[in-house]
Amino acid sequence: MKFTGRPNTIRAKESMFRNWVEPHLSEDGSNLDEVVDVWEVDLQPASIKALLYISKEYVKETTGKELDIKQHVKRIGRSKQQVPTKALTHSEIVALSAVIEADDPLYLPFHIAINTGMRRGEVFGLHWADLDMLKNRILVQRSYYGETKSGKSRYVPISSALEKVLVAETFGKSYNKSKGKRSGSMVKSLFDPNPYLRAACKEAGIREINFHGLRHTFATLALEAGRSPVLVSKCLGHAAVSTTIDLYWNVTGESLDMAFLEAKQEERKEERKEWRKQNPEKVQELNTAARAVNAEMKENKERIRDYLIERYGSTPCMDCDKVFRWCAMDFDHRPGETKELKIGARGHQKATIQNIALIEKEITKCDLVCSNCHRVRTQERHNAKPQS
Ligand SMILES: [Zn+2]
Repeated sequence: MKFTGRPNTIRAKESMFRNWVEPHLSEDGSNLDEVVDVWEVDLQPASIKALLYISKEYVKETTGKELDIKQHVKRIGRSKQQVPTKALTHSEIVALSAVIEADDPLYLPFHIAINTGMRRGEVFGLHWADLDMLKNRILVQRSYYGETKSGKSRYVPISSALEKVLVAETFGKSYNKSKGKRSGSMVKSLFDPNPYLRAACKEAGIREINFHGLRHTFATLALEAGRSPVLVSKCLGHAAVSTTIDLYWNVTGESLDMAFLEAKQEERKEERKEWRKQNPEKVQELNTAARAVNAEMKENKERIRDYLIERYGSTPCMDCDKVFRWCAMDFDHRPGETKELKIGARGHQKATIQNIALIEKEITKCDLVCSNCHRVRTQERHNAKPQS
């Protein structure tokens, strides 16, 4: 397919064609109406308009016919002028939920979309078997039109609000238990939810929103509530966290800073993962070194412990004067002494055989008592403290 225009335009057209036209549109363009439906799930009006002109070029080249795109261009143009609300507030959601009743065809799609941020096509493509009520999650593995946009599947969590809706539905009419299997689509038939949604907004007395706006609402509120951008990005099925951040500039400055920080961290994590994949022998080397260091530390701890048992193992408790096994003895720092090292029955992690002197110095600040008396001492010190 050869496109006309300046080099950058041609490149953009080719990319749009490969991603959105070629996989969907038949050569004669006869299924244009359906394809526009697909586009409208995820694309902005400006992109759809561009795709319409690309489709026209394509059909002209393959069949020599003029594809009639006038109706669509006109309609898309109109929908752009309305500038639908991007995201609802909490109180608007409450008002909207109140007017969408359980027998409304919009009921299930609305609650799923607002609680999970799933795309329209994904909501309509859900099967009952995709729900995992035990693990409280939904497997998003297809769109009504086929694959998900990224071609990958993902899990989204079921919020407590959505759980209530789903449990009620589950035991209602649309649940097929007869075969011991939850089979079939959750949303019975494909329909354009936007007119229903607009009517509901009007009835609720709130700003009008389109179905895609429910996805924006979910993302915006989740980020505003301080949810991790990484998590939100995973829920939305974005390939990169940066996509999520680019789309939701309107969240507060603070959480945006957080978003960048976390995106950076996530990036670094991915880089490290990739590095490990590329350098298996270096990873092996590091692991071997780490094992050696750990073994040495363990050995040192044991040597310290042996030394302490040898030196203090038969010393009786200062309080009750009894001799106990070493594991029941504590070095109790006397009040007023500053604790620089923790010395327990197992020695100390930082201790090496070379700094026995350091341990002995610390022991001069301590009383050797049994664990039982140590506990009594601690309790009494606590009681003696003035109540604040
Ligand atoms: Zn004691």
